[in-house]
Amino acid sequence: MDYDTIAAISTPIGEGAISMVRLSGPEAVFAADQLFRGGKSLKEVDSHTIHYGKIVDPDTGNTIEEVMVSVMRKPKTFTREDVVEINCHGGLTSVNRVLELVLDQHVRLAEPGEFTKRAFLNGRIDLSQAEAVMDLIRAKTDQAMNVAMGQMEGKLSTLIRSLRGQLLEILAAVEVNIDYPEYDDAEVMTNTILHEKGSEVRRQLDRILSTARQGKILREGLSTVIVGRPNVGKSSLLNQLVHESKAIVTNVPGTTRDVIEEYVNVRGVPLKLIDTAGIRDTDDIVEKIGVSRSKELLRSAELVLLLINGNEALTEEDRGLFQLIGKTPAIILVNKADLPQKASFDEIKQLAGGNPVLQTSMIDEKGLEELEKAIASLFFSHDVTTNGEAYVSNTRHIALLKQARSAINDALDAAEQGLPVDMTQIDIKRTWDVLGEIVGDTVSDSLINELFSKFCLGK
Ligand code: GDP
Ligand code: ZN
Repeated sequence: MDYDTIAAISTPIGEGAISMVRLSGPEAVFAADQLFRGGKSLKEVDSHTIHYGKIVDPDTGNTIEEVMVSVMRKPKTFTREDVVEINCHGGLTSVNRVLELVLDQHVRLAEPGEFTKRAFLNGRIDLSQAEAVMDLIRAKTDQAMNVAMGQMEGKLSTLIRSLRGQLLEILAAVEVNIDYPEYDDAEVMTNTILHEKGSEVRRQLDRILSTARQGKILREGLSTVIVGRPNVGKSSLLNQLVHESKAIVTNVPGTTRDVIEEYVNVRGVPLKLIDTAGIRDTDDIVEKIGVSRSKELLRSAELVLLLINGNEALTEEDRGLFQLIGKTPAIILVNKADLPQKASFDEIKQLAGGNPVLQTSMIDEKGLEELEKAIASLFFSHDVTTNGEAYVSNTRHIALLKQARSAINDALDAAEQGLPVDMTQIDIKRTWDVLGEIVGDTVSDSLINELFSKFCLGK
């Protein structure tokens, strides 16, 4: 299918500094050639070659920018259309100017995610891979990037396809049984196949779902709230975390206007530090926003870092904060370990329940290693490596996988209870359908539009 030609400013993944204008569509080469002055006409060059030259304004003949232009003809391109990438080394103004000129050549400005959408519509990638492109852009740590990369390379898709293949085999067996009911062996065989293959599918669904929590944390960050009385050292801790962080990738304004989220990377665990109105200045959540809103934030938190001033005796306020934490996983930091210790360590231990208690000093930088270790081990029981493993992190995928598991459960239950095979057939078919939605074989146009509208411009 042929679409119109689109263009947008696009920054290649992993190469932040370079800007390029990417064109895709049947007129991509022609349009770029109208503006390009180099050794050869772009219409004559081989596919997948790069050319040095200039972009000129065709009206005035003025040179706008020195460029490297890549020409990639279909079908071996990301969108499976003709693609031209104009790499500009100048600043944003000249890139914008190049884009403007391109858009004068009967080329339309791409919508967010439209290149990826075309790759999907033209069959180059499936839906879970397209979603991985979006995750990759937003990845906050290297590990998160690896997960997205694995998904983009099709690890999840491969797994889903193999499960669907197994379900088809079961369906085929059930079909035989329905077609030849008088054939007794068929029923025995069907039940054996159903049991063996169905259990195997369920086992694999369980396994992939067991990675969901970690995958989601890697993708979205672990919501973390720092609490403690005034002057216990919350700002100092935050500064240490930010300072130590190997890569603070993004500062994303929160979804609600009064909340700011800041990402720090602790041994590959992205912590999403949450606070109201600027965590650096006013980290004291309880003081700033009052107890009821703090309770709410603490409830949605996945990790609480509670600071106690070791240099002072425990106060009622301290004890109250332990109450506020409730069941949320927490790490208790008895801070100011460099000063004489007056807080009762025994009482703290007792109030902490099973949560780890660490002694820290922000002045001596003591206990920070231990804190990092505690965070990492709290959330990753084993090392998060993505070699070979398919991780699931996308909320949509997780929901569908759960539906699939419940459907296959129903099928296995029905078979065990000796219900007629056509009952089983419905459940197996449902499992197959739901899994198809992950890779996009069975999704509606409106869902596709919604998913792609969430992408960044130029991807
Ligand atoms: P917050 O109000 O909880 O954010 O506390 P701050 O981080 O602003 O720290 C309050 C004061 O305690 C500052 O003067 C810090 O330098 C000091 N402080 C923080 N952590 C330590 C520590 O571990 N040891 C000592 N001696 N002082 C600390
Ligand atoms: Zn502070």
